[in-house]
Amino acid sequence: MKKPDYYELLEVQRDADADALKKSYRRLAMKYHPDKNPGNAAAEETFKQIATAYAVLSDPDSRSKYDHFGEDRGQAAVDPFSGMGGMGGVRLDPGHLRDVFGDTFEELFGTFFGRTNPHQGRDIKVRCEVTLELACAGGEALVSYQRPIRCKPCGGIGARAGTSPSACESCGGGGQLRVQMGFLSVVQTCPRCRGSGILIANPCSQCRGTGLSPEEVSRPVQVPAGIETGQTLVIKGEGELGRLSGRPGDLHVEFIVKEHTLFSRDGRDLTCALPISFPQAALGAQVEVPTLDGKARLKIPAGTRSGTVMRLKGKGVYDLRGMSRGDQLVTIQIDVPKTLTPRQRELLEEFERLNAGDSDGHAERKSFLERLRAFID
Ligand SMILES: [Zn+2]
Ligand SMILES: [Zn+2]
Repeated sequence: MKKPDYYELLEVQRDADADALKKSYRRLAMKYHPDKNPGNAAAEETFKQIATAYAVLSDPDSRSKYDHFGEDRGQAAVDPFSGMGGMGGVRLDPGHLRDVFGDTFEELFGTFFGRTNPHQGRDIKVRCEVTLELACAGGEALVSYQRPIRCKPCGGIGARAGTSPSACESCGGGGQLRVQMGFLSVVQTCPRCRGSGILIANPCSQCRGTGLSPEEVSRPVQVPAGIETGQTLVIKGEGELGRLSGRPGDLHVEFIVKEHTLFSRDGRDLTCALPISFPQAALGAQVEVPTLDGKARLKIPAGTRSGTVMRLKGKGVYDLRGMSRGDQLVTIQIDVPKTLTPRQRELLEEFERLNAGDSDGHAERKSFLERLRAFID
């Protein structure tokens, strides 16, 4: 089935700016929000679709990918690991919605996205620098970060030893208050207990009532082959621990691919420059080229010009789904020697003398000389 066009979904023109997108999305999200359409599965589906469309189009990078490649690539930027097993699961990050709706976000959307137990641990974001080799082939990298764990003195409850927390009187311990706003019934976080449902009269001196204490952890993460800078892997349950019965948050690993001294990346292709000598270019040669898999042989045909791009098939980057691999593009650069021995100079001067009488082998020079003559005449 063909997926609907994201611009049509959001009812905007293809050149709509960030503001127009946000405005239109805000209006549609209000219209199709499940709380306003109870039991209406179609509205819920539309709501999810516009949320996805906005997630893709509000990010300049994924928007340009979507514009070029359509839904699959645009989506990949937001949800690059969908369909890859054993990665700990990935979901659409509703974080951007907070940006659109401000503080009302939690109240409006929290329950829809499967939050919001106030005891739930927060997500932890961590950056992971990887080499180009690792980003291309995939593998394992180590990340270190602070992950708050349960405070030992108070057992994670947050109350000083010998005292215990009491249920919040404002919300009756539920942590939430339901408020009628016009036709919209809105669930708000209880301002008194800030959603925890409990009040701590004597906070634990170690954690100041948070119930958490910081701990440095290191853990390996699986780097998917083909990962690009800015793409994020979400590992469920590896974020901040929840309090009391709350479930833990998630760990968001954002990858940064380091620059390489030899190779640059162009999507799934790798590019590199290869200097060769003038005789190699003129006579042809077998040369060695570095690739991510080690050295490869490359045949330079006789008469190769500087700037020629040669393609090593299948020596590029794996795509995220691991199905295929790009190429390595080698740009030939003719290396002109800066110094010459007397013998080299002698040979080159002789070459040039022979060359002067014969322009047949130099189509480019011949055509230039003809045009020059026509210009002077
Ligand atoms: Zn309360
Ligand atoms: Zn404590």
